[in-house]
Amino acid sequence: MVIGGGVAGLATALRLAPLPVTLLAKADLGLEAATAWAQGGIAAAIGEDDRPELHAVDTLKAGAGLCDAAVAHRVTAAAPAAIDWLAGLDAPFDHDTEGRIALGLEAAHSRRRIVHANGDSTGRAVLETLARAVRACPSIHLMEGVRATALLRDAHGTVTGIAGVSASGPAILPARAVVLATGGLGGLYASTTNPLGAVGSGLALAARAGAVLRDMEFVQFHPTAIAAGADPMPLATEALRGEGAILLNDRGERFMADVPARELAPRDIVARAIFAEIAAGRSVVLDARLEHLEHRFPGVVALCRANGIDPVRQPIPVRPAAHYHMGGIAVDDAGRSSLEGLWACGEVASTGLHGANRLASNSLLEALAYAEWIAADIAGCEAVARDGTTHALPRPSASRAEIRSLMDRSVGVVRDAAGLDAAVRRLDAMASSGADDMALVALMVASEALKREESRGGHFRSDFPLVANTVEHSRTTLDETLAFAESLREAPIVRRVA
Ligand SMILES: Cc1cc2nc3c(=O)[nH]c(=O)nc-3n(C[C@H](O)[C@H](O)[C@H](O)COP(=O)(O)OP(=O)(O)OC[C@H]3O[C@@H](n4cnc5c(N)ncnc54)[C@H](O)[C@@H]3O)c2cc1C
Repeated sequence: MVIGGGVAGLATALRLAPLPVTLLAKADLGLEAATAWAQGGIAAAIGEDDRPELHAVDTLKAGAGLCDAAVAHRVTAAAPAAIDWLAGLDAPFDHDTEGRIALGLEAAHSRRRIVHANGDSTGRAVLETLARAVRACPSIHLMEGVRATALLRDAHGTVTGIAGVSASGPAILPARAVVLATGGLGGLYASTTNPLGAVGSGLALAARAGAVLRDMEFVQFHPTAIAAGADPMPLATEALRGEGAILLNDRGERFMADVPARELAPRDIVARAIFAEIAAGRSVVLDARLEHLEHRFPGVVALCRANGIDPVRQPIPVRPAAHYHMGGIAVDDAGRSSLEGLWACGEVASTGLHGANRLASNSLLEALAYAEWIAADIAGCEAVARDGTTHALPRPSASRAEIRSLMDRSVGVVRDAAGLDAAVRRLDAMASSGADDMALVALMVASEALKREESRGGHFRSDFPLVANTVEHSRTTLDETLAFAESLREAPIVRRVA
């Protein structure tokens, strides 16, 4: 059973063929999947001047010491074949005048290696390609409109299926192997580029079943979400900066001018620079009045115009927004979690590829690479379905707006002990009703962020601005997080020193 209708879920289901697969998605395929919104593309070292090792080096550099080097090498080496696989499914990749796949440049990539389909609509094109193949695949039983609400486990703790709910009511669905491909958690933040349904529901399912989660505190904030009042915030893709767009504050100053790599510095550096301008009361725009903008970036132009901005004539107002979760369910090289019978693929997983900061366009790639490895592992397994016990049905969060603004304020681009301490206490109170998934996942992110007393990649602590000498992954389970939050209840409240 595969849960999730984005690139990770669809690719895993297809790679599992001809093994019979039930593919669940809580919405119709193509809706509510971050995949459909990916603008930049898929990173793959297929250019003449490029090699997977160079791609791996860039990935490790962005990850700020926390990547697993072997994983980075393995995934980047798998990229050219992943592109071939998609091309074999008729993905409409963009080609140059000589008929080769055209390659774009993005921040922190040392070579042109971003593969696009339909310009800046790569995610949608990939999703449509995969969805078409899924619908035509006789071994895949597609169930749209079903939300997984709990993992079933037997007396040994092995995952044996899921409990779900659809318009026709609750259902118990046994499975010999379960793959979570439920996406990220950006929707926990008030400022986000993610679908609002991306609130880490797979993380909650896995945590409630006892799985180990890793590096939960590492959230990537995209520097240039379009600040025009829409929720979620549309994205002004990094590729615009790759092609020459520049950042200016409202005094007309190019504030990235003296930073190494300027507008193409790693995302966390650009996001903090913009955040600092905004915190100082200045607004920030991206001047993307590039040649042939409408032709090269039709998606961005349309998004801007839908929000009352004409990027051909005027700069785009931007601010950072929660964009990608580097942490997730800890998995091994075959995508296996710490629970027997449970695998995880895509943004919900923590494979070790992204470390503390994801290199742009590596996430679609990661999902495509692990889909194949997970399928091979499951094909080689002899899991036996057993009768399952289930956990309490989670309720949708009653405090959605409060959680989102709390996450923005206290667990966002710039964090400190006082804000995180307050966030943990509040989220603990909300989560201790036992059934609020959003509060629970937010609590895990805030607790791990409070424990990590250093700044690294996407995690920046104004009270610990330096990178620690020792590099350690954080690991937690639901029980450990709840025990940590409980220990704070007795501790004095941390106050910000004026
Ligand atoms: C605006 C934007 C631009 C991006 N641009 C790029 C880019 O250019 N390149 C790149 O590599 N990455 C990009 N990313 C990141 C990338 O899109 C995502 O990391 C990736 O698509 C995640 O794929 P996924 O399959 O893991 O999750 P998703 O595509 O989010 O799919 C998750 C699926 O799970 C379903 N689901 C969730 N919970 C449940 C449940 N409980 N029961 C049943 N179904 C459930 C959802 O409905 C959805 O179908 C971008 C992200 C955003 C938001």
